[in-house]
Amino acid sequence: MALIVQKYGGSSVADAESIKRVAKRIVDTRRAGHDVVVAVSAMGDTTDELLDLANQVAPIPAPRELDMLLSSGERISMALLAMAIHSMGFEARSFTGSQAGMITDARHGAARIVDVTPVRLREALDEGAIVIVAGFQGFNRDTRDITTLGRGGSDTTAVALAAALEADVCEIYSDVDGIFTADPRVVPRARKLDRISSEEMLELAANGAKVLYIRAVEYARRHGVLIHARSTFSSGEGTLVWGEGMRRNGVALTAGGGNAEGADMEEPIVAGVATDLSQAKITIIGVPDVPGKAAEIFKIVARSGANVDMIVQNVSAAATGLADISFTLPKADAATALKALSGHQAEVGFESLVHDDQIGKLSVVGVGMRTHSGVSATLFEALSIAGVNIEMISTSEIRISVLVRGDDLAEAARLVHTAYGLDGTVDATVHAGTGR
Ligand code: ASP
Ligand code: MG
Repeated sequence: MALIVQKYGGSSVADAESIKRVAKRIVDTRRAGHDVVVAVSAMGDTTDELLDLANQVAPIPAPRELDMLLSSGERISMALLAMAIHSMGFEARSFTGSQAGMITDARHGAARIVDVTPVRLREALDEGAIVIVAGFQGFNRDTRDITTLGRGGSDTTAVALAAALEADVCEIYSDVDGIFTADPRVVPRARKLDRISSEEMLELAANGAKVLYIRAVEYARRHGVLIHARSTFSSGEGTLVWGEGMRRNGVALTAGGGNAEGADMEEPIVAGVATDLSQAKITIIGVPDVPGKAAEIFKIVARSGANVDMIVQNVSAAATGLADISFTLPKADAATALKALSGHQAEVGFESLVHDDQIGKLSVVGVGMRTHSGVSATLFEALSIAGVNIEMISTSEIRISVLVRGDDLAEAARLVHTAYGLDGTVDATVHAGTGR
């Protein structure tokens, strides 16, 4: 008998029919002899609709009240799910985040989990009940208020519950089959991975892959939780997101799908290709090429709240003794950053600003890069054959990213995917799914 935590996203519980289907899945797991704890998201687009309502009554809704409002979405789905399970003859009990002992800091809308005290969940499990927990929400002990964890926070709820209860696995259900070597909507020949290391998953998530939330993967990595990303709509195996020392059914997990025993499998060099169209580029032209300017500039940008990603500095085309500095940041942060920089133009002494929101970022991720040479050469070769111009390059130990024109991104991703030998033999089945 195992303890299994399951998380169902909004698309999996969008209406009464879906809730019954999920209930059946939970009951099947229970019938197989396992203890089950479920974290559930709000039905369908409920969270978006509630946000919309809030914005209609107030231009800037009070953060405390917004959390009160948004957390109600998960209360609806958790209670309905428990009822559906009852009607199938099984005992189920739903709990809010605070009842479940999901203790967070006090930051409304972006709270961090600081402790999980699942006393009531354990009691319910001991009494033979299936436990349903509202995802995305917590409770702060100092303010004694309800908090939410940020959009997509139910993944984190599930992983945190799995860690606190020492569950055998955290199954994250959505409307896609698992984690693919690329987004199948962009690269039709993308393959579903049997497994991927949490390290690689973090890099992919940080660079545009939307299947799993980065915070949940981080939490899982830190606490040794095995994630199984799978589809609500099929019974097939999904993708295991594993870390050092994790086991499944008593067997140690390794890369590539082989088991520790028969580990003659070659580790794949590249696990996947991520694409990201959500970034913009700002170029500061004609910055005096003297010590301290980069510090000045990025202090201004940081104070504007923007999260800078790639940075490149070149000798300026404007004149000698000057440099051009380009950096990328989320499109949504660009306007504020530009305004902040303009406000300091005289004092920093640059000539002008250029804003470019037609860029795309392509990243190749794989732990095999540590031990193999020529990985970047393959990437640049593929892009050169495609005639795609590279505007910026950045690397980490297990990732290479390039910035290209947004219009070139999809084509570039397909060619690079092929160049690394990642293509499947058939096109991936693409559900209408969003991965939530
Ligand atoms: N319902 C919340 C959201 O839509 C949390 C989640 O779905 O994970 O962001
Ligand atoms: Mg949702």
